[in-house]
Amino acid sequence: MSTRKIEPIATFEWKIAQSLIAMFPSIQGGSELVLCAKAKDGSVLVQHTCMVCEMYGHKNCPYVKNALFFYMLYKKQRFERYKIAPERVVLKKEWEQIPIPSKQSVTN
Ligand SMILES: [Zn+2]
Repeated sequence: MSTRKIEPIATFEWKIAQSLIAMFPSIQGGSELVLCAKAKDGSVLVQHTCMVCEMYGHKNCPYVKNALFFYMLYKKQRFERYKIAPERVVLKKEWEQIPIPSKQSVTN
């Protein structure tokens, strides 16, 4: 499974849940959503599942890897650990689309 960088199509902020949602183009067409939020223990809670996850495990899922990368850019913080909530993410009206976090926004 390739782990090349996949750019999100869009990123959303869910203020109440303090979450970042990244939308990626799917290999099967359509899109894949990954929700990242800070867990109480300081790790990242990643809500996501997809065909790749089901077949190869979330550790080999390029969406999980890339969502974590963009979440760290968004939070301007490094996270060493994450845990998976293997549930599909459904697009919500409360989400606010935000510019895709970039490396420039990290440097102060
Ligand atoms: Zn996946």
